[in-house]
Amino acid sequence: MSLSKTTLGNFELYTIETGDFRLDGGAMFGVVPKTLWSKGIPADDKNRIPMTMRCLLIKSQATGKLYLIDNGAGTKFNEKMENIYQLDYSQKNLENSFKAHGFSFEDVTDIIFTHLHFDHCGGTSYYGKDQELKHTFPNATYHVVKAHWENATDPNAREKASFLPENIEPLKTSGRLNLVEEEHEYEAGLTAIPVNGHTKGQQLPKIEGDGKTLVFVADLLPTHVHVPLPWVMGYDMYPVQTLNEKERFLKQAASHHWNLFLEHDAEAEMMQIQEQDGRFSVSKTFTLGEL
Ligand SMILES: [Zn+2]
Repeated sequence: MSLSKTTLGNFELYTIETGDFRLDGGAMFGVVPKTLWSKGIPADDKNRIPMTMRCLLIKSQATGKLYLIDNGAGTKFNEKMENIYQLDYSQKNLENSFKAHGFSFEDVTDIIFTHLHFDHCGGTSYYGKDQELKHTFPNATYHVVKAHWENATDPNAREKASFLPENIEPLKTSGRLNLVEEEHEYEAGLTAIPVNGHTKGQQLPKIEGDGKTLVFVADLLPTHVHVPLPWVMGYDMYPVQTLNEKERFLKQAASHHWNLFLEHDAEAEMMQIQEQDGRFSVSKTFTLGEL
C-alpha cells in the first residue's frame, strides 16, 4: 500500500487509511434522487455506496507532538454489523498505515476527534483476549468539543445508533479526555472550524503553513460528490444548518484555494473548490503528496 505524505509549514502530514465500508446511498444523499446521485457514485445491489475511512497523522516540528485526526470504525463490531457495513480491513487498516510511515501507536500524543460517530472513533479501543476494552493509543490525550461530548453521552433517539457505548465508555474512563471549546487552537497553525449541522459540536481541523491551508472536512463534505449545496446527508441532525454552514465554508474554500482532505471519499483524497455564479464545484482532485 502506498500512502501519501507531505509537509506544510511546521507540520509533517501523513495519510492514514483505516479501512473501507459501505453505507446506504439514499441516506448519504438525503433528498437528492438516486437517478442523480448514482451518476456520481454507483450503488451496489443492496443500494450501498463504497466509502473509506481516511485519517490524518500530523507531526509538529515545533512541539514534537504527534496528532491523529479520527481513527476509523475499529474492530469491535460483531459479524452481523460487519456485514451490514461491509467493513473491509484486508488492505487498508491502522496497523498497516502506521507501519508504512514508520510510526507506532505509542507515539501518538493527541487524538483530535472531529466527532464521535462510530466510523470516526471506533479505532480508539479494541477487545483484548478476555473481551475487556483496551486502548489502542495508550499515551494519547483525547480532544472532543464539549458540546459534542454532552450530545454523545446523552443522545436523542435518532442519533443514538451512531454513538456506540463500547466507543464512548473507554473515553469516559480514560482520565485522558480533554473537552475543548469551539474554535480551539491546538498550537500555532493547527486550529479547528466548528460546524453543527451534521451533529452538535463537530470540529474540522485546519492546518496552515507555507502560505497554504488544509482543512480536514470530515462529515461536512463526506465525498467530492457532496459539493453542490443541497446535496446534504440524510444522516445530518440539522440539514438546513448544514446547508448554511456549507455555503459559508465553500465560499472561503473557493476564494482562498483551500485544500480539502476527504475522510470518506473512496476515490479522491483531496479537492479544491471553485465558485461560479453562486454555484460550487470541484476544480481538481489530488493526493496529499501532490499538495
Ligand atoms: Zn458523522
